[in-house]
Amino acid sequence: MKRSTKNKIKSVIRSVVDPAANDYLESRQNFSYAPFKLATYQNLLQQASKDGRIRVGRFGEAKSSKDHINVFIRHDIDTLKCVQNIDLLLDSDLHMDFPAGVYFLVDDDEYRLQDFKQVAQACKEKGFETGLHTICYAQDDYMGQFKLETEKFADEAGFRPTTFTIHGMGEKRLSVRKAFIREMVKNHTKYGYTFSDCHKAFRGYHHVIEDCHMDFSVNNRYIFDDFNEFPSFFRKGKNYLILTHPCYWEQD
Ligand SMILES: [Zn+2]
Repeated sequence: MKRSTKNKIKSVIRSVVDPAANDYLESRQNFSYAPFKLATYQNLLQQASKDGRIRVGRFGEAKSSKDHINVFIRHDIDTLKCVQNIDLLLDSDLHMDFPAGVYFLVDDDEYRLQDFKQVAQACKEKGFETGLHTICYAQDDYMGQFKLETEKFADEAGFRPTTFTIHGMGEKRLSVRKAFIREMVKNHTKYGYTFSDCHKAFRGYHHVIEDCHMDFSVNNRYIFDDFNEFPSFFRKGKNYLILTHPCYWEQD
């Protein structure tokens, strides 16, 4: 089934199951184009801190609270600029004492983790869950590749990753990606992992606030107004993710 058809079906289901969420998603507005202002991120964290209903959970732990709106924060380090900008967002998390997750690639394409061992170790020492951003499903032998990536991460960062996230490749190799996820849901402990948010068996999200929406007409990333203010449809007992790539952010 085509993804656009799937999305339409999803939207119809959502409008019945959660009309408030559906209304929001149908009417949300572009808030700004990259580079995004750090103050926008810090403002969202402030809202999370002040709103007694919200609990910012440890990214690398599956548990969440029935009595709170559960918000998790994840930073995917996709590019050299992401590494260079990493402290912009992490210092803000640290200031609020929010236990975000930070995920590094080891494919040596945009940057080499071996050049940033101290950066990865500093993330871990500051209490952030620091793990592997895998792109193993680009290979036909995706499990062999996943094992190689895990070993490479351990060699280059100086510690073994026990959690991972998956680097997106758009519509490419979705069936391989799904096969990888199926294997990890069943056997992640066998590979030395405790958690990933790649499947709802670990943790599902009711909504993701992300900084990587693409406007092809101007060839730039943008954020919706959910980054300016938490949507009103957020509910206790559900999980929500703030997903960033630090390369899209700048000091005001
Ligand atoms: Zn990525």
